[in-house]
Amino acid sequence: MANDVWVYIEHKEGEVSPMSYELLGIGKTLANDFGSSVCAFAIGENLDNISKEAFQYGASKVYGIEGGVYKHFRAEAYSKAASFLLDKYKPEVVLFRATTQGTDIAAASAARLGFGLCTDSIGLKVEGGQLKMTRAAFGGNYTVTVVNEKAKPQIVTVRPKAFAMPEKNASASGEVVKESFALSEDELATKFVEFIKSQVTVNLVEADIIVSGGRGVGGEEGFKILKELADTLGGAVGASRAAVDSGWIPYEHQVGQTGKTVKPKIYIACGISGAIQHLAGMRTSDCIVAINKDPDAPIFKNASFGIVGDYKQVVPLLVEKFKAKLNK
Ligand SMILES: Cc1cc2nc3c(=O)[nH]c(=O)nc-3n(C[C@H](O)[C@H](O)[C@H](O)COP(=O)(O)OP(=O)(O)OC[C@H]3O[C@@H](n4cnc5c(N)ncnc54)[C@H](O)[C@@H]3O)c2cc1C
Repeated sequence: MANDVWVYIEHKEGEVSPMSYELLGIGKTLANDFGSSVCAFAIGENLDNISKEAFQYGASKVYGIEGGVYKHFRAEAYSKAASFLLDKYKPEVVLFRATTQGTDIAAASAARLGFGLCTDSIGLKVEGGQLKMTRAAFGGNYTVTVVNEKAKPQIVTVRPKAFAMPEKNASASGEVVKESFALSEDELATKFVEFIKSQVTVNLVEADIIVSGGRGVGGEEGFKILKELADTLGGAVGASRAAVDSGWIPYEHQVGQTGKTVKPKIYIACGISGAIQHLAGMRTSDCIVAINKDPDAPIFKNASFGIVGDYKQVVPLLVEKFKAKLNK
C-alpha cells in the first residue's frame, strides 16, 4: 500500500545485527497510526534468512533485491537498488538505522529521488496523519521536531536504541516480494577487493554498560584500570576524542559528535570534562555516572550520579565492590 511504513534491514554479508529489527517495532506503531502495514526491505546475495527473521519481528511483507553484485555492501550498488524499490512502491515512511551503512543508503536515495530526509531521529510519532520526527540539534543542547510537508515519501535515519526491540514470534510468516534490479560490475565505480576485519573488537553501540575515559585518565595505563571495571561489569570501554587524539586508545572507542552515538543503560565517564561534542554522543544514556576530580566539571550537570575524586582511587574501589557483589 502507498502509505506503508518500510524498514531497511541492515546486514553484513548476510549477518544481521539483532538491533536491525528494532525499527520494525516503531515501524509497526507508525503503520497502525497510518492504517497501513509495516514492511521490511533488504538487498544482498541471498535474503532467505533475513526475510524469515523480519517476519518474526513483525514485518507483514518483505521486499528484496538479490544478486551476486550485492554480496558485499557498496554504497553505490545498494543505494541504486534501494532507490529502484522506493521509487516503484513509494511507501509513506522509510526507516533506516543511523549507522554508516544506513545513513549512506538513506542520503543517496533521498538525493537521487528527491524524497525528504531527516537524519539521526530519536523520536517518531504520527499526529493528524503527519509524521513528526524529533532529533537533537546544536550539539545535543536542543531537541527539535520536524515535519516534511512536501518531499514525500519521508526517509528517516533513527539513532540506535531509540526504541524498544519488538517481541519475536517464531511462528510468524508473510509474503516475500522479490524484485530484480540488474546491475553489472562495469556500471559500478568501485570494485570489492578484500574485507579486512578491524583488529579492534568493540561494540560500543550495542553495549549496555560503557566505562569511558578522557584526558584525565592520563595515558594508556589509565585505560587498563578502566578496562578492569568494564570487564567486571560485562561492559565496553569508550573514550573522549582527547584520549583518542593522544593515541591512548583507537578511534573505534571514541564517543561523541565525530565518534559513536551510544545509549547504554549505564555510562561511566572518568576524567572527561563534558564538552558538548562528547555529550552529543552519550547524553541520552539511561544513567550517567561521572568521576572527575574537579567539582565544577560540566559533566556533573548531565550526570545522574557524580563522584568528585581521582579516578585512580575511585575506579579500583568500584572494581573491588562490584567483584564482591557479583561474586567475581
Ligand atoms: C568539530 C569537533 C568535533 C569533536 N568531536 C568530539 C567527539 O566526538 N568526542 C569527544 O569526546 N570530543 C570531541 N571534540 C572535542 C571536545 O571539544 C573536547 O575537546 C573533548 O571532548 C575533551 O575531552 P576530555 O573531556 O577527555 O578532556 P578535557 O576537557 O581536558 O577534560 C579532562 C577532565 O579530566 C579531569 N581529570 C583530570 N585528572 C583527573 C583524575 N586523575 N581523575 C578524575 N578526573 C580527572 C579534569 O578535571 C577534566 O574535567 C570535538 C571537537 C570539535 C571542535
